[in-house]
Amino acid sequence: MEYGFFESPKGELQAFAIESKNPICSVIAVSSYLHISLGNFLHCALSFSDILVEFGDPGMERKASELPPGPRLDLRPHDIERRKIVNLLLIMGFRFLTAHELTHIVHGHTQLRMQHNGTASMSEAVHAIVPNQSEDSFTLEMDADSGATLESLGPFLDGAYRWTVGEETAATLAKPQNLLRLWMFAIYTLFRILDDDRHTRRSLTSSHPPPMLRLRMVLLTMEAFLAKRGETVLLDSLSELYRKTFIDVEKAYAYIVGRNNYDLKALTYALSSEGTNRIEAIRMHWANLRDELEPLKTCLGKLAPLPVAGPIQSISGQLTKRKRHLYRHYK
Ligand SMILES: [Zn+2]
Repeated sequence: MEYGFFESPKGELQAFAIESKNPICSVIAVSSYLHISLGNFLHCALSFSDILVEFGDPGMERKASELPPGPRLDLRPHDIERRKIVNLLLIMGFRFLTAHELTHIVHGHTQLRMQHNGTASMSEAVHAIVPNQSEDSFTLEMDADSGATLESLGPFLDGAYRWTVGEETAATLAKPQNLLRLWMFAIYTLFRILDDDRHTRRSLTSSHPPPMLRLRMVLLTMEAFLAKRGETVLLDSLSELYRKTFIDVEKAYAYIVGRNNYDLKALTYALSSEGTNRIEAIRMHWANLRDELEPLKTCLGKLAPLPVAGPIQSISGQLTKRKRHLYRHYK
């Protein structure tokens, strides 16, 4: 496997991965837009005193109400420790993105694409495709997100990358809830930035599912992963962690674009019954593709778990209830 960067015809820096074992290369590209946006967003977000308050010294940071109106895009945290937190969040986000691309290869997605379309390349730039291919595409993206979730969350829970932060933060991260809180913050931010492109939200001919729907699927995978590891303390903390994550990222988003008030509207579609039906349809289609994918995968890992009746409904109910609760408080 090779990994590198090239400049696209549009002048964007793109990452690529090539499966060198196969005579026909599998190439995957991701946009530099997301990397740059993520770095900028996280630096600005940690520059506010009421975002991720458990980490570093938020008292050294700014209050949104004291800043002049307008977008706040060039802020950097005053506190050195919070700058280190930004780096850790970036590593979490980049690891998710990289693992997403590699999952497309090792789970056989590029080979399946070759069989169906005669080309093994996959682009993460959201593009329009014919409707009858949308189901396949959505399903592969969901599987790549699922692989990325396991691959990025597992190592962090096991203590990877602690060297990137100072002693004070390392002590905070000894509590697994705080580690998961950072990971959820990084991943929510990724999808929230993608969600900025509102044109692609609900299209049935898009190559990718709507970003916030992907986020919900990632959170479902995360819950399944935590349950499999027997992380009961973390599972018991999830409602609180969801609440903090939703509010923190939406608040940071509002501050950065120049608003001092935030809302949770971005979650509305993902948590709606329409969103639930979309997830169910994708999961049903996944079962159809699985037989084709199994012989094509090149790693020892397994495809993300197939749906089982129950959890998705209860989690959906949990999130929806939580959303209503938040609306009551913050409307
Ligand atoms: Zn993808």
